[in-house]
Parts: sequence; structure tokens; C-alpha cells
Amino acid sequence: MTEIETTFTLAASEATTARAVGAPAPDAPLGALEIRRRTVGPNDIRIDIKFCGVCHSDIHFARGEWGNVPYPAVPGHEIAGIVAAVGSEVTHFAPGDRVGVGCMVNSCRECENCLAGEEQYCLAGNTQTYGSIDRDGTVTYGGYSDHVIVDAEFVVRIPDGLELDVAAPLLCAGITTYSPLRHWNAGPGKRVAVVGLGGLGHMAVKLAHAMGSDVTVLSQSLRKQEDGLTLGADAYYATSDDATFTELAGRFDLIINTVSAGIDIGRFLTLLKTDGSLVNVGAPPEPLPVSVFPLLLQRRSFAGSSIGSIRETQEMLDFCAEHGIAAEIEVISAAEINEAWERVLASDVRYRFVIDNSSL
Ligand code: NAP
Ligand code: ZN
Ligand code: ZN
Repeated sequence: MTEIETTFTLAASEATTARAVGAPAPDAPLGALEIRRRTVGPNDIRIDIKFCGVCHSDIHFARGEWGNVPYPAVPGHEIAGIVAAVGSEVTHFAPGDRVGVGCMVNSCRECENCLAGEEQYCLAGNTQTYGSIDRDGTVTYGGYSDHVIVDAEFVVRIPDGLELDVAAPLLCAGITTYSPLRHWNAGPGKRVAVVGLGGLGHMAVKLAHAMGSDVTVLSQSLRKQEDGLTLGADAYYATSDDATFTELAGRFDLIINTVSAGIDIGRFLTLLKTDGSLVNVGAPPEPLPVSVFPLLLQRRSFAGSSIGSIRETQEMLDFCAEHGIAAEIEVISAAEINEAWERVLASDVRYRFVIDNSSL
């Protein structure tokens, strides 16, 4: 792995050095680098990162697909680790605790949504785990790193029943699918379809099944059919087959679209019942054109959803521990990250790569 020169965001006296893997530019491969992190403040926790999941968002972000990036980009927002130190004001975590950090590390804490416990929708914009300017003016760096320092309010507890490696992907893929499934009332008597069987998709299948819904996977092909049924799906269809759209017309209460690229949304809307909802969690950079007719003819909704709150993330982790749910993972060393990204882009992952951060 190549060493990349970096610029530091804090004066040396205020910062600690962290080993990391990141991208120096949108079109460059990831390489080893050093970053500076703030010292542990009174409300902070220092976490030694044991595992970090590889989300498709890491790729969109680091390659500049979503807009400006403060390079070097150090992605990673599926962080599982052990508390190494706590600030003087932190009372509910102690060194040795098993903890997680997801996609956000701060918010304004005073807007209507923050006060309602929905800080992922902070009206001033939440601070993302990587690539954001934090409230103290520093750039945030993610979990492809040996440690991270995070405000305790944005840290969750990983239940004892969950191993850290399979828990890591729950911090993004888990909560991003759990939240809309809950919000749109997935459960017994509800037919839920999941579009795309990748990192988010496989968690959506497991979670919707555990909630008691009837679950259908809509994948590009039948290549992963056996896996899908083992994960908890009741049915599995290929979207490359036109007959799928005829056979399943008007069938679903809820469709969760996890696809990372643009798809023909209008076609999928016709699979909803009257009053059904298609919720987009996939985040392709380009707009998705939508014909209004499938929407208005059956009063259907096309919606979006972003991660989940800290409270709901803890609820999701507890739900997973209670139901024996975790991610299906392939553990990689930090040196294998570029190859892993290529496999994510080729939809060749079953179903989440997780970095063993001891290899950094
Ligand atoms: P992933 O593991 O790559 O899974 C995406 C899946 O979509 C693939 O496995 C594939 O499933 C399908 N797919 C990929 N390209 C496709 C294409 N051109 N046409 C049709 N289907 C295609 O990605 P992920 O980590 O689950 O993330 C999925 C998306 O969610 C990304 O855009 C990511 O940025 C976004 N995301 C959003 C949030 C949020 O808060 N809303 C949070 C996390 C991630 P099949 O092989 O089964 O077809
Ligand atoms: Zn993610
Ligand atoms: Zn706010």
C-alpha cells in the first residue's frame, strides 16, 4: 500500500495521530496515511476501532460523486470497537465497553428535529462521521482508521450477544433499513419487497423477516436466490425478467429500494398496492426520473429515508441481539480495500466487507 502525504486539520498540540487508509483524490486508489484527531474532550470517548464495515456510500463519497470532498478522504461509518478512554463528563461509558459509531457524530442539538430525538434530520445538518466540518471547525475522518474520538451522545452500545465484526455493518446498513421498515410499519400481514441484495438489501431482508413481514427480493438476476431465501425472504424474483413486473403488479405494501445506481422507479411503483410506499434508501448521485401516473392512479407514495437516530440505532442493535440477527460478512485486511471496492461496484459481495482494523 502506498503512503499518501496529508495535510493536518489541527495544530499538533491539540491533536493525536491516527493510522488510517484513505484517498488523496477522487480518482486515486486508497493508501495508508496518518491523520490528526482531536484530544479527548470532557464529553468525548476515544474508541479503539476493531472492525469497520465497507458501505457503498464510502465509494460514492471518496470518489467525489456526491460533491466536494475535503481530501484526503478517510471513509468508514460502520465502526465497532472498544472504549479506550472517556472524558471527565462522560458517565455512561467506561474503558473496555463494546461500542459502535454510525454515520453521524454530531448535530446542532437545539433544532426541532434534534429536540425530538431525530438528529439524523438536524435542520442545521448533522455532522457526518467522515467528510464533514464538525462543530469545532475540524474535518471528520471515518473508521478506516485505528481509533476515533466521538462525542459520547453519538456512541451506541453493542450488546454482548453480538460479535464486533458482524455488528459493525449494523451501524449503517442495519439502521438505514430498520428505520424505514419501522416508520412504514413493516410487520405481520405486510408484504415488503427489497430491491437490490447487497449490504443494505441483505439487512433489510433479515430485519423485515424478523418483524414478521412477508419478504420478496427483487434482484437483477437469480444468482443469489438461494442466499436470499436463507436470509429470510419468502420469494425471489429477477428484475431482468419482464414477467416479474406482470406477476407482481399491485402486490406490495412497502418497497425498500437499496440500489446504488439509477433504476426505472416508475416500473417498481406499479408493484405497490393502493396507498403503498416505495422508499428510496439507495443514494445514486444522478436524479431518478419518475412518471407521476403510477403514483396518482393508486395514491402511491415515493419517499426517502436517511439512516436513523441514535436512540433508534440502539433500539435496532438490541432488536438484532434479541432476534439473533447480524450481518453476513467477509473480513478483509486494510491492504485489500481497493480490491474490495471493485467487488462492491461489481455487485460481487456477500454481503458486507468488514475491515479488520488490527491490519492497519
Ligand atoms: P451494495 O452493497 O453495493 O448493494 C447495492 C445493490 O444494488 C447491489 O448488490 C445490487 O443488487 C444492486 N445494484 C447495483 N447496481 C445496480 C444497477 N445498476 N441496477 C440495478 N441494481 C443494481 O451497496 P450498499 O452499501 O447496500 O448501499 C446501497 C446504496 O444505499 C448506496 O447508494 C449507498 O450510498 C446508499 N446508502 C444510503 C443510506 C441512507 O441513509 N439512505 C445509508 C447507507 C447507504 P443485486 O445484485 O441483488 O441486483
Ligand atoms: Zn453507509
Ligand atoms: Zn439540529
